[in-house]
Amino acid sequence: MSRLLFETKTPTVPVAGSTDLFPVHRIYCVGQNYAAHAREMGSDPDRAPPFYFSKPADAIVQNGARIPFPLHTSELHHEIELVVAIGKGGCEISAIDALSHVYGYAAGIDLTRRDLQAQAKKAGKPWDTSKGFDRSAPISRIHRAADIGHPEKGRIWLAVNGKIRQDGKLEELIWTVPEAVAELSMYFELRPGDLLFTGTPSGVGPVQRGDRIAGGIDGIDEIAVEIAA
Ligand code: MN
Repeated sequence: MSRLLFETKTPTVPVAGSTDLFPVHRIYCVGQNYAAHAREMGSDPDRAPPFYFSKPADAIVQNGARIPFPLHTSELHHEIELVVAIGKGGCEISAIDALSHVYGYAAGIDLTRRDLQAQAKKAGKPWDTSKGFDRSAPISRIHRAADIGHPEKGRIWLAVNGKIRQDGKLEELIWTVPEAVAELSMYFELRPGDLLFTGTPSGVGPVQRGDRIAGGIDGIDEIAVEIAA
């Protein structure tokens, strides 16, 4: 009889309007999915196929948490994003079918060590340390698509210490939710419990120790976290 050496905990996200918890399997992210953000990052938003990176499932941070300032960065950036929660797995999903694989939606923050990312881009090195670090994925409750539908428009915003930094619209997404889910499933077998951060509008910027970050998406939810002093 084999025994597990350690107990590991499955990260979860609360489901709004119930006591259910959504168990997180993987966290995928789309890069540069709003034209104005692609431009502020020095890229040309040319509708080249979306590209993806990932974060570990346990990078999840619950709404209201206080996050210690990450190690080894002097430029921690906020990126507010629409997060898609996958409820039904599959691969090579068509865009027409993609929404039937979606369980619900949340507002998330793709925290980024921008200094390390800039170095990695320059050197052609991977993004793991700039994107996939501990506590890099704050997320609101998940709202079931059965309750709120599939949002295609609405304001997506983020404020630091009450001052608006990002103020975009979901309709500005270069790759829509069905397109981004379909394309992701060409590379990975999607599983129930997967999350997809769909990219951030323009206005990303640094946060400091003691800052309060709040963001939200119309018709979905809000997320607020604090960077520890
Ligand atoms: Mn992002």
